Parts: sequence; structure tokens; C-alpha cells
Amino acid sequence: MPYQYDLGLGQKIYLDNSGSTTVITLASSGLGQQQQSGTQVQTGLWTEVPQAARIDGGVMLRCVTAQGVFVWQVQGTQIGMADTAAWPAHQAVALQPMEAGPAAMPPMAPMQPIPPLEPMAPMTMGNMRMSANPMTMQMGNMTLSMGSAPKAKQFCTQCGSAVQAGDRFCGSCGHQLQ
Ligand SMILES: [Zn+2]
Repeated sequence: MPYQYDLGLGQKIYLDNSGSTTVITLASSGLGQQQQSGTQVQTGLWTEVPQAARIDGGVMLRCVTAQGVFVWQVQGTQIGMADTAAWPAHQAVALQPMEAGPAAMPPMAPMQPIPPLEPMAPMTMGNMRMSANPMTMQMGNMTLSMGSAPKAKQFCTQCGSAVQAGDRFCGSCGHQLQ
């Protein structure tokens, strides 16, 4: 998910986490011309939403990964690594997520929507029949059932523990069942 920060005056900064690389793109569109500069740094995967903070004459960017904290300073069209100690945390704002990268960036593969799970219709294959709710599979004269409790389930009349049909004594309290 790329993030963007609007510097104003037609300048925008885009931050993206591509694999383990942080890609920073600075796009400026002024006086009818488009300019773009950028940098790529091996940072690892972000663990927090990247942040930006205004400084004199530019902006600072910060992202956090399992490998540590990375801070960049953007001034004009220059992007450079900066000292994490210089990060003005009190001025920081979270970057805004954006739907797609800037037009000049390589297009990303569109995300395929995941269809919602449909309730399973009974399915018949040869002499096998499957149905859901409860999950039941019938093969010939054999039936497998999962999920719902079988009706043969019994409980101890003394302590209420579940007992196996046919058990003579409760496994919990020893109460004689039959
Ligand atoms: Zn019992």
C-alpha cells in the first residue's frame, strides 16, 4: 500500500514498501513540467504507518521496520538519509494511504477481489454425497458427520461430564452409569 504526502506547491511525496525495500518518490508538477526523483533503501517491511514532519525548507520522512527506524530528509528535489535523532516527533503526522501509485510508477498488478464464501450446496459424486450444516459425507451406506454433536452423546447423570455411549462408569466422578 503506497502512502502519499502533499507538500503543497504541486509537490507530492510517495512512499511505498515494495518487498523489503522502501521506495520514496518525489513528484513535482509546476510550470507545466513534471519532475520526479526518488530513492530506494533496503529497510525491511514496515511495521508502522510511515510518518512525515515539516521542517525548515523541507520535510522529513520516517518509517519503522523490524530492522530499525529510518529517517529521510527531503529538501527541494534532494532526498537523503537523516539522523533518527533529528526526527521532530512532535510535528509528525501519519502519511495518507493512496489507492494507486503515481502514473509514472510501474503499474501494479490489480488486486483480485476474493469472492465471499458461499454456503456449500450438497454435492454428489458417484455414490458419495456431501452436504454442509452439519458437514456430512455419505459414501454408499457409510455416513461421516462432523460439526454437530451426534445424538448418541451422553452425559453423566451425577456430574454432567460427557461420557461415551456404552461406558459403564463416568470417567470424571466414577458414577456408575448403567
Ligand atoms: Zn460423573
